Amino acid sequence: MTENKKQMPQELKEKLRAGFNLEWRKELRKSIPVKERMKLSRKKMPERNPDERNTDFTEVNLGLDLKKAQEEAQRCMDCANPQCVMGCPVGIDIPSFIKLIEIGDFVKSIRVLKETNGLPAICGRVCPQETQCEDVCTMKKGTGIPVAIGNLERFIADYEREQGEMFIPELPPPTGKKVAILGAGPAGLTVAGDLARKGHKVTIFEALHVAGGVLVYGIPEFRLPKKILKAEVDYLIKLGVEIKTNFVVGKTATMEDLKKEGYNAFFIGTGAGLPNFMRIPGENLIGVYSANEYLTRVNLMHAYAFPEYDTPVFLAKNAIVLGGGNVAMDSVRTAKRLGAKTSTIVYRRSRVEMPARVEEVHHAEEEGIKFHFLTTPTRFIGDDNGRLKAMECLKMELGEPDSSGRRRPIPIEGSEFIMNCDMAVVAIGNSPNPLIPQTTPELKVGRWGNVEVDWETMATSMEGVFAGGDIIRGGATVILAMGDARVAAKEIDKYLSTKKVQKKVPKKKK
Ligand SMILES: Cc1cc2nc3c(=O)[nH]c(=O)nc-3n(C[C@H](O)[C@H](O)[C@H](O)COP(=O)(O)OP(=O)(O)OC[C@H]3O[C@@H](n4cnc5c(N)ncnc54)[C@H](O)[C@@H]3O)c2cc1C
Ligand code: SF4
Repeated sequence: MTENKKQMPQELKEKLRAGFNLEWRKELRKSIPVKERMKLSRKKMPERNPDERNTDFTEVNLGLDLKKAQEEAQRCMDCANPQCVMGCPVGIDIPSFIKLIEIGDFVKSIRVLKETNGLPAICGRVCPQETQCEDVCTMKKGTGIPVAIGNLERFIADYEREQGEMFIPELPPPTGKKVAILGAGPAGLTVAGDLARKGHKVTIFEALHVAGGVLVYGIPEFRLPKKILKAEVDYLIKLGVEIKTNFVVGKTATMEDLKKEGYNAFFIGTGAGLPNFMRIPGENLIGVYSANEYLTRVNLMHAYAFPEYDTPVFLAKNAIVLGGGNVAMDSVRTAKRLGAKTSTIVYRRSRVEMPARVEEVHHAEEEGIKFHFLTTPTRFIGDDNGRLKAMECLKMELGEPDSSGRRRPIPIEGSEFIMNCDMAVVAIGNSPNPLIPQTTPELKVGRWGNVEVDWETMATSMEGVFAGGDIIRGGATVILAMGDARVAAKEIDKYLSTKKVQKKVPKKKK
C-alpha cells in the first residue's frame, strides 16, 4: 500500500464541482486509474488512548479530518455496478457522496446522503458497516480492505454540523393530512422526516422525556455523544415535526383516542425495550440488573455525570455482563468507566459467534475488559443481606449449528465453577414493547409479541396503521429500523393520497 499522494488538478476539481453528472464521473474515474486507487492505504480513524478513555465517557473515536477524508475518498473506484449500495439497507448512493467528498463539494455530498438517510451522523457511528456496505465493497474483493464508507459518512455529517449550516430542504405546500408516529427511536424519527418532507403534518408521541429511543437511553455517550442526536432531532423540528414527550400511548391515550383526534395514518415504532432474563435462581438479588435498567440509569438519567447529576447507580468492584452483543459491550465498558476493578463478559459461545460489532469488541479488549467464553451461569449466589456475591457457572462446548446458523452451545456435565462478582448485568436480548399491542386489540401480533406486518408495505392488520423497527423484528439494528421506516413512509404517503394499501396483514380473527 502507498500513501495517498496523487492529487487531482485544481482545474479539474472545479470543473467536476460545476456539474454533477455522468460526464464528470467519467473524468473523475480517469483522473486516478483504478490500479493506482487500489494501491492507496485505508486511512485509520484516530481514537483516544485506551488507558485514558476507559475512565471517562468522552467519545472514543475522533473522526477523520478533512485531508484524511479526501484521501480515503480517493480509494473508492466509483464502480459502474456499486455493490456497496446493494449492501446498504436504505440504499444510500454511496459512490456519489464519496466522490463529492473527493472533489471537495461537501454541501452536495451531504445532500446526496440525506436523500436516503436522515440520521447520517448516527449511522456513521453505530452501523455495522463491516457486515453490510463495506463487506461487499469491490475494493475489499480486490485488496482485502474495503473503502471506509462508515467513517466517510460520519465525516461528512459532522462537517455539516460543525459548519453550523444544516441544509433544510424546501417543503411542499401542506397536504392537510395528519400522521401520528408512536415512538421517537430511529424508526419513528425516519418516518417523521420522510413524511414532513412530503408536506404532511407529523406528530411523534414519545413515552420518555427526550426523543431518540435506544440512541439516547441505551447507547452510551462514549460511542454516540448526545449532542449529535440532539442536532438530528432539531433538524426534524425545523422540518415542522412536532414531538410530544412524556406521552405513553396506551396509557396517556390509546391509539383509538388518537384516531378520534383526526389522525389519518399511524406508524408504530415503539421498539423492543422489554428485557429478557436468564430465568435462573437468584435473579432478584441486589446487584443483578437488566442491561436496559443499567444503561438507562447511566445514559438517560446521566448517572455517569456525578456530581452534576445525582442518579443512583451501583458502582461495582467486580462486574460481570452476560451476553455477546452490542448491548453487552456497552454495559461492560460502562461498568469499567464507573470504576470496576474487573469488568468481564461471560458468553456461552466462542468469540467468532459474538454478534457485537468487531470494533466494539476490539475497543473493549483495548480498554482492559476480560472475556470468559463458552460459559453460562446456572445461579446467582447472594449474601445474608440479599446482595449478589458470586455466580455459579457451567462450561460449554459447541455442537452443530442451530437455526441462527451459529454453533449451538452444549453444557459440559460436572464442569460447575464459581465466579465472584458484586454486579451482574443481563444483556441477552430484548422483546418488543407490549403496551400498544395490549391496548389495541385489533392489531395482529406474532408469537414473540412482535407486531405483524406485510414486509413489502409495512402495513399492519389495521387500516391506515403501519409499523417498523424493533417492534416488528425484536432487537435488531438502527439501519434496519430506518430501512423499515423508509418503506413505511413511502407507503403511508401513498395511502394518504389513495386510501389504498397494496397488501396488508390479514385482519386479526375476532
Ligand atoms: C445498548 C444498545 C446498544 C446498541 N448498539 C447498536 C449498534 O451499535 N448498532 C446498531 O445498529 N444497533 C444497535 N442497537 C440496536 C438499535 O439501537 C435498535 O435496533 C434501534 O434503536 C431500534 O429502533 P426503533 O426505532 O425500532 O426502537 P427504539 O430505539 O427502541 O425506540 C422506540 C421508542 O419508542 C418509545 N416507546 C415505547 N413504547 C411507547 C409507547 N407506548 N408510547 C410512546 N412511546 C413509546 C420508547 O421510549 C423509544 O423511545 C443497540 C441497542 C441497545 C439497547
Ligand atoms: S463498492 Fe466500494 S469501491 Fe465500489 S463504489 Fe462502492 S465504495 Fe466505491
